[in-house]
Amino acid sequence: MAIETINPATGEVVESYTPHTTDQVTAKIEAAQEAFQGWRHASFAQRARLMNKQADILENEADKYGRIISLEMGKPLKDSIAEIKKCASACRYYAQNAEGFMADEAVQSGASRSLIAFEPLGVVLAVMPWNFPFWQVYRFLAPALMAGNVGLLKHASNVPQCALAIEEIVKKAGFPDNVFQTLLIGSKEVNAVIEHPHVKAVTLTGSETAGSKVAEKAGQEIKKTVLELGGSDAFIVLDDADLEQAATVAVKSRMVNTGQSCIAAKRFILIESIADAFLEKFKAKMENLKTGNPLEEDVDYGPMARKDLAEELAQQVQESVKQGAEIVLDGGHEGKDSAYFKPMILKNVKPGMPAYDEEMFGPVAAVIVVQNEAEAIKVANDSRFGLGGAVWTQDKERGLRVARQVETGAMFVNAMVASSPEMPFGGIKKSGYGRELSYLGIREFVNQKSIWVG
Ligand code: NDP
Repeated sequence: MAIETINPATGEVVESYTPHTTDQVTAKIEAAQEAFQGWRHASFAQRARLMNKQADILENEADKYGRIISLEMGKPLKDSIAEIKKCASACRYYAQNAEGFMADEAVQSGASRSLIAFEPLGVVLAVMPWNFPFWQVYRFLAPALMAGNVGLLKHASNVPQCALAIEEIVKKAGFPDNVFQTLLIGSKEVNAVIEHPHVKAVTLTGSETAGSKVAEKAGQEIKKTVLELGGSDAFIVLDDADLEQAATVAVKSRMVNTGQSCIAAKRFILIESIADAFLEKFKAKMENLKTGNPLEEDVDYGPMARKDLAEELAQQVQESVKQGAEIVLDGGHEGKDSAYFKPMILKNVKPGMPAYDEEMFGPVAAVIVVQNEAEAIKVANDSRFGLGGAVWTQDKERGLRVARQVETGAMFVNAMVASSPEMPFGGIKKSGYGRELSYLGIREFVNQKSIWVG
């Protein structure tokens, strides 16, 4: 894929970028390693001061950077601005807490003194996607830099301006040279970066295919990976749920980022006794959403990020309908020259259909009706993914009981799945492994070192 800014709302190629050459990439890796030699010894107070400065820049210039997101991947501007501000919150969270998360842990043992120390690893490569082109990066950047690591970013080829803007923000905040650099390279060049001896670990957010390729290479090189891949989150509505509230959040959770979120609600599992009532509300609220140019006011959802992604989603719908899925809300791809896709609801979704088995990375809701709570849990777990999920019930204890039985990295009771700096984020099964955010996230890329004093 060429490294280009293409406005998905118009199809216009706004700017093309010349990829970095092999020599340029090598020079950047070496510069990163050199930067690490100084940065690893910086005090937490010094790192925190720069991280807070970075948060100030993100907050003060949220509109400027938000516009870049909307231009490159089509998210409504208000959502892009909210994304930038969320990045600032992650910077502040780790500025405040990293020192505590990295503090020595005393251990009782036969030694006169024994402890676990947490030390940075060095250069970490981040391979990141276009869907939350700032947030996905900051989820890595803030803890990595606060831990004393340095970062190299290989961003998705359709968001080069976001990638360069992040590098610029780090520089503007006053971080030492080369502690965070963007590599303008295609996915084929990633293996060579992983192979480089200075690169110590890799984190990837994206598709299963990309994750498995990167993990394969890192495995050959015996380098640690964190993978945050796809999801097919269940949104379980039990018979005692507040249907009005559940339907309102269902729309938000399916339509977040025009449906292009790993933690969007994708499979709506409804108990039969409330299924029709819920669906009526859900459909009415979906129909009310407004689309348009993401840079204009009052737009609920924009185009998908690329035309090929809209085409792929249309094929998944077509195949599911061919196999017997019923269309409750008709919409779909607006034509092969467009990246716009109108929301759809499919019911009677069954195993074997793409809408049941695969991740639907766009505005299509798959509805599965079940008889009872036990069947709802069984269907929720009948997925190769295990990222997040939600359950709706007015009985919080019941919600908790169901939440414990769903096999995912996160469950939300009466709320939509979302990430926040203080809670760990990541999946099980084909959704990946490792955790981002919280104290667990900062400890992924550190040497957890045992020190024994005899
Ligand atoms: P990809 O997974 O292909 O892209 C994510 C990142 O991985 C990009 O930086 C990409 O680079 C890179 N990449 C891709 N293949 C390789 C490889 N073999 N080796 C190294 N790096 C690689 O996502 P797509 O944009 O193609 O989207 C396809 C599907 O991926 C979506 O429909 C969705 O299902 C899933 N996805 C999931 C996301 C999530 O949040 N979990 C985010 C985005 C996508 P480049 O852009 O240069 O190809």
